[in-house]
Amino acid sequence: TMPTPYRGRFAPSPTGPLHFGSLVAALGSWMMARRAGGEWIVRMEDIDAPREVPGAADRQLNTLAAFGMPPDGPVVRQRQRGHLYQAALDRLLAAGEAFACRCSRSELEAVGGIHRRCVGAGDPARTPAIRLRVPALTLGFEDELQGPYRQALDTAVGDFVLKRADGLWAYQLAVVVDDADQGITHVVRGADLLDSTPRQILLQQRLGLPTPHYAHLPLVLDATGRKLGKSLQALPVDDADPWPALAAAWRFLGQPAAALDVGGAPEPALRRAADRFDPGRIPASSGHPVSDPAALT
Ligand code: GLU
Repeated sequence: TMPTPYRGRFAPSPTGPLHFGSLVAALGSWMMARRAGGEWIVRMEDIDAPREVPGAADRQLNTLAAFGMPPDGPVVRQRQRGHLYQAALDRLLAAGEAFACRCSRSELEAVGGIHRRCVGAGDPARTPAIRLRVPALTLGFEDELQGPYRQALDTAVGDFVLKRADGLWAYQLAVVVDDADQGITHVVRGADLLDSTPRQILLQQRLGLPTPHYAHLPLVLDATGRKLGKSLQALPVDDADPWPALAAAWRFLGQPAAALDVGGAPEPALRRAADRFDPGRIPASSGHPVSDPAALT
């Protein structure tokens, strides 16, 4: 069979119900995949057990189904993929690209929180974190929506954590391993992850993995400029009544209201709308904070 030219994904963390900001990321990645005739999968990013809310993963999947966006294929859960992250880490360690670090938080705070080399004595009794060795390097890429983006990895980020001292896998490693393992060709997600992308591209290069295309959607901000997801004002994402939030997300992505047939079953309506979805209309930033997302409908 021919390889699928486009495979996108939505990768929520099960830290609560899907809010309006995550619905925008789901809808944006879904539309970009569908208009390209591609696949769209869901990966549950449940590596951070302490932050997980019991039942949230199933609730998020129910919401996606109610909103007409059931995933193609089985949902992959990061909790079950530690062996893949360990294999990648072992390769980086063997190549000398990763190293054990026993710096304490206070030692790192004294150097501005950015790890350039191990400081202080390092208590040998302490379980180390594993970090990636980051060279003096400015890494740039072209974001489909945000345009060119560059980051001086050594001064802005430093040697970043791949596996925490408490044994938890870092998001940056897990996301790179999974995007490659799942054959993701296009990453469409919120702009809060724009500044993580150079770290992910560096990791891809160190692991000999392909770099997908990236498109970072405008963030949904509340009236105080915070991510809407952190706000109490979030438009309810109601499984029993998906259209108000779905139509608001469509408008937030810059699409004309008339191009979406609101009402009825969401999935066929979204599939029809996908043919009319125009990524060129997506604003690079929300421009104005949304104090009342319902006003978008
Ligand atoms: N799990 C991340 C989040 O919920 C998103 C990761 C990604 O899309 O790369 O913010």
